[in-house]
Amino acid sequence: MARVLVVGAGIAGDTLALLLGRAGWEVTVVEIAPDLRTGGQTVDLRGDSRDVLERLGLLDEVLGRLVPQRGAAWIDRTGRPLATMPVEAFDGNGYVSKEELLREDLARALHDAAGPTVTHRFGETVEELTDTPDGVLAHFRGAPPEEFDLVVGADGAHSRVRRLRFGPEASFRRPLGLAHAWFTLTETPATPGLDGWFLTHNAPGRRSVEARPGHPGTQEVGLTFAAVELPPRHDRAARFALLDEVFADAGWRTAEFLAAARVAPDFALDTFDQIQVPRWYDGRVVLLGDSAWCASPLSGLGTALALRGAAELADALGSAAVSEHPDRLSDALAAFERSMRPRTRAAQRLFPGRVRQAAPVTERGIRVNAWIIRQLQSRPVRKAVGRVAARHGQDPSADGPGPAAAGRAAAR
Ligand SMILES: Cc1cc2nc3c(=O)[nH]c(=O)nc-3n(C[C@H](O)[C@H](O)[C@H](O)COP(=O)(O)OP(=O)(O)OC[C@H]3O[C@@H](n4cnc5c(N)ncnc54)[C@H](O)[C@@H]3O)c2cc1C
Repeated sequence: MARVLVVGAGIAGDTLALLLGRAGWEVTVVEIAPDLRTGGQTVDLRGDSRDVLERLGLLDEVLGRLVPQRGAAWIDRTGRPLATMPVEAFDGNGYVSKEELLREDLARALHDAAGPTVTHRFGETVEELTDTPDGVLAHFRGAPPEEFDLVVGADGAHSRVRRLRFGPEASFRRPLGLAHAWFTLTETPATPGLDGWFLTHNAPGRRSVEARPGHPGTQEVGLTFAAVELPPRHDRAARFALLDEVFADAGWRTAEFLAAARVAPDFALDTFDQIQVPRWYDGRVVLLGDSAWCASPLSGLGTALALRGAAELADALGSAAVSEHPDRLSDALAAFERSMRPRTRAAQRLFPGRVRQAAPVTERGIRVNAWIIRQLQSRPVRKAVGRVAARHGQDPSADGPGPAAAGRAAAR
């Protein structure tokens, strides 16, 4: 039985583990977090995600966990709507879809489906990877070294496997100039309800404050702002001080959110980056998901690419019958890369103006943006957006509301 080590129990890692486990591989997954990671906002089931989940036999299960949503609304600092886009817009292909579930529910469904040939070790990671004549010796943080036929770095945009094997993060990171904090807010009787709407309040100075429906009794909050570097991950005080400073006068429910962030169990803060690695494999080590090709949350395609990438890698290893013919590994990894490169390249070509549209600079830009969102939903403009989206390898749904297409002006 061929042995594979998957580093990272995220969407990509656990999907691959599931598929290789079913194909007869002995799979070990190490995840640095003490448990399966919770938190994160909703992920979309349109396109690739749906196909792969259907193939995995998990579609019905995830469809049973959808978050009921009515659409997206852009509001001013008092909460008054400037523009709306219901889930029915663009024939169901608008910004928010009826078929979305929380990332943690998808991660849980994938994780729970793993069979007996998959072993998860939480609170564990690799410290070093050494080639041997027949494999790779993985040195773990908390366990003796073990040899594997294949090591997969599915450990996200800040991948350690990538650093150990391919080089420092700075060589591959392309910052988009924005950062994003996200966390779950637990509602109290005093919490304003969302009534199924994903609300976005843009404040001048490239700031965006969002709240969207989560599990019953919760809201998923996001705070987006201009930044290329952040205080270190372990320095929580500095991170919260930065948020306080940036969002001090942003209006709407921002003060409530800043307080909730401090007590949220799943608070996270990161920059919006893309990752570009010239080659995704080296010997018996391969990168998968955000570690290889992160297109950033602004692409709206991270989950779909992770699911599709895992399926393509499993297929490539299966077609070459690598578990019986280890000498074919390199061909299989090359085939995997050939199949995924065009998709990831297309995903990284963000809709024109997308970054600026996510966080406009001026009050006027915010108003223009809202106007464009309203106009977009008129029939003639809808068609033009479809054409621009096709040129960028994305549909409007995959990349936010698409007003950015016509709306570079909105960002000024
Ligand atoms: C908790 C969480 C919440 C997220 N929320 C959103 C969201 O709201 N919107 C959005 O667009 N994207 C979000 N993402 C990113 C999104 O999941 C990915 O873009 C996409 O699904 C690609 O998945 P991935 O498996 O490549 O990476 P990820 O889903 O990021 O998974 C990587 C996994 O590797 C683990 N890991 C990291 N370093 C190590 C290490 N050294 N050793 C072992 N394990 C390691 C991480 O803990 C994580 O479980 C979130 C990711 C996480 C982990």
